[in-house]
Amino acid sequence: MSIFARSPSDRVIVVGAGVAGLATALRLAPRAVTLVTAAPLGIGTATGWAQGGIAAAMGSDDAPSLHADDTLAAGAGLTEPDVALRVAEAGPGLIEWLVALGTGFDREPDGALALGLEAAHSRRRIVRARGDSTGRTVLDALVRAVQATPSIETLVAGLHGLMQDADGSVRGVVCERDGVAFRLPARAVVLATGGVGALYASTTNPRGALGRGLLAGARAGAALRDLEFVQFHPTAIAAGRDPMPLATEALRGEGATLIDELGAPVMAGIEGGDLAPRDVVARGIFQALARGRTVYLDARGRLGERMPRRFPTVAALCAEAGIDPAVQPIPVRPAAHYHMGGILVDEAGRSTVPGLWACGEVSSSGLHGANRLASNSLLEALAFAPRIAESIGDAPAPAGADRPAPLPEIRPEDAAVLADIRGIMERCVGVVRDAASLSQAVAQLTDLSARGSEAAATGLMIARAALDRRESRGAHWRSDFPGQLPARHAVVTPALADAPALQELTDA
Ligand SMILES: Cc1cc2nc3c(=O)[nH]c(=O)nc-3n(C[C@H](O)[C@H](O)[C@H](O)COP(=O)(O)OP(=O)(O)OC[C@H]3O[C@@H](n4cnc5c(N)ncnc54)[C@H](O)[C@@H]3O)c2cc1C
Repeated sequence: MSIFARSPSDRVIVVGAGVAGLATALRLAPRAVTLVTAAPLGIGTATGWAQGGIAAAMGSDDAPSLHADDTLAAGAGLTEPDVALRVAEAGPGLIEWLVALGTGFDREPDGALALGLEAAHSRRRIVRARGDSTGRTVLDALVRAVQATPSIETLVAGLHGLMQDADGSVRGVVCERDGVAFRLPARAVVLATGGVGALYASTTNPRGALGRGLLAGARAGAALRDLEFVQFHPTAIAAGRDPMPLATEALRGEGATLIDELGAPVMAGIEGGDLAPRDVVARGIFQALARGRTVYLDARGRLGERMPRRFPTVAALCAEAGIDPAVQPIPVRPAAHYHMGGILVDEAGRSTVPGLWACGEVSSSGLHGANRLASNSLLEALAFAPRIAESIGDAPAPAGADRPAPLPEIRPEDAAVLADIRGIMERCVGVVRDAASLSQAVAQLTDLSARGSEAAATGLMIARAALDRRESRGAHWRSDFPGQLPARHAVVTPALADAPALQELTDA
């Protein structure tokens, strides 16, 4: 059956084909799903680039409660304890689900899963595949499964916005292909469009990670939470590439250290040292760079020699940059990596707008709080996918009257404007923030947004949220407010992309 012939009363639209979209589509089977993705399956996702792995309490010395404790500690007061525990408890079963789909995880000689250690995890619990090619391996397995599932059809198109009925319930999507807009009605829509890293000049994210799903959700009136929390990965490889290749944190777990050009340890005197939480290490490196130092990840010696076998992806990325990690330290700097904030969802992935669900990085489920624990994001998407499928199955088909809106004129994002926006986000909404730079970002992004830039509208939501949080917490560091206030979520309600923010604070 063709995509357009399918009845909206039974169609579910999933937008995005990373781990979140693919897992949700699979969990919805045999229900009819149209998977809308900006790029063909297997391309253009952060999922495919994940290096470290998937956190799951599988070791004999581990337990879901310990995993949840580490998640809570990293989240800096804004992780929901029940969400952390439920996701951690689901971990081992989700790894088995992936194994059943044909994912070849790395194993010890006795057949047990090989478990790696990453920063801020108290146990070895990172399940990986082909060394540091976990994301690619998982993505390939999910894509194969989707292609073998007759109830899922794929449409390569860009999400432009959401269709809503007179009551505001989401009734489908407005997409664009080759500059032409069209509607795709549905009984339910799941946004799985990933993160916002490409709004920054330095990022590890794919170019399409511009937060289009987040903006569409905002414009449909969905509540958004904690948008100010953007995680900067401490060790993106500074070799002149955009997006920046990543040197996984697992390298530090295996003994690599951060040094400057004089060989002095960058993290000396900072609690946790090289294995401190991501935000602490990112700030340590940022401050060293601000003092004019050059920062390197030093894996010289045995680790560097083992790298082609243990970390083949990083080894290949270094080779492309002309670096031999066995004898040369790897130049690194922090880069926008992961968005903790997003569309507020409940335990079943439901947004505050009927008919709209969100999964993966575009959502704010309560797991990551102010700072994501490494290797928890693939896990989060896998854990929420079955709950979303179940909740869509239970939800009544929408009954409200249609509210036909004229189809929009499609205007591609201007490359020069996007470059400006990325520079503004990098300079003013980056690792270290203050009121002056954030106010400047808000003014400039307001102007660019008024001139029709969707990327500016999305960046503006983040900049405003960062300006409003007058404290330092997790990944959000304000040099003018280094202390902490009582832990509170910032929930922003609707259509603020085009109007002044309506801020509402709720206790964490
Ligand atoms: C370099 C790197 C390494 C990482 N390593 C790890 C790790 O080891 N462990 C871990 O847990 N996490 C890791 N992460 C984070 C993790 O990969 C992501 O958070 C996760 O993959 C997000 O999955 P997702 O499905 O939400 O989004 P994505 O995988 O980014 O997929 C988004 C999808 O949405 C589509 N899309 C976007 N906009 C539109 C639009 N307007 N219209 C249509 N489609 C659209 C894209 O084409 C894509 O198919 C890493 C991230 C990066 C960048």
